[in-house]
Amino acid sequence: MGENCIFCKIISNEIPSKKFFEDETTFAFLDINPASNGHALVIPKKHYETLADVPEEELKQLIVSVKKVAQAILKATKASGFNVLQNNGKVAGQLVNHVHFHVIPRFENDSINFSLMANQEEANELEKTAELIKKEL
Ligand code: AMP
Ligand code: ZN
Repeated sequence: MGENCIFCKIISNEIPSKKFFEDETTFAFLDINPASNGHALVIPKKHYETLADVPEEELKQLIVSVKKVAQAILKATKASGFNVLQNNGKVAGQLVNHVHFHVIPRFENDSINFSLMANQEEANELEKTAELIKKEL
């Protein structure tokens, strides 16, 4: 259990949540500040801070739960699509330090906007960047 972790407290029922799914290793509940109808969070029951910290077996189960939950949310909300969002680190917008996948149902003409701005300087460095990453694998 992560020290003072709000999601660990949700899992152990110390803090109430709108939980709608759990299995051996994963847990899913509605985001308290939903971006859209059905916005949910899928988390591992064990406390890990970021995606990079989750052991492979648990990560496999987690992503399968994300799929399962997303399909159910699509049916329940009649959404036309969904985004999966996953923030790692403060700089990336991670506010809760217990790894989580956002499942955000999307509807025609909703006002959600995830569009990214291209960085032209980076576009000129693609070959070098790919080589640098390759060396780390
Ligand atoms: P992130 O910025 O990716 O760390 O997102 C954290 C998310 O957790 C936010 O969308 C919050 O609305 C959500 N959140 C924080 N506290 C709770 C809570 N007690 N119950 C449900 N969702 C929460
Ligand atoms: Zn935790």
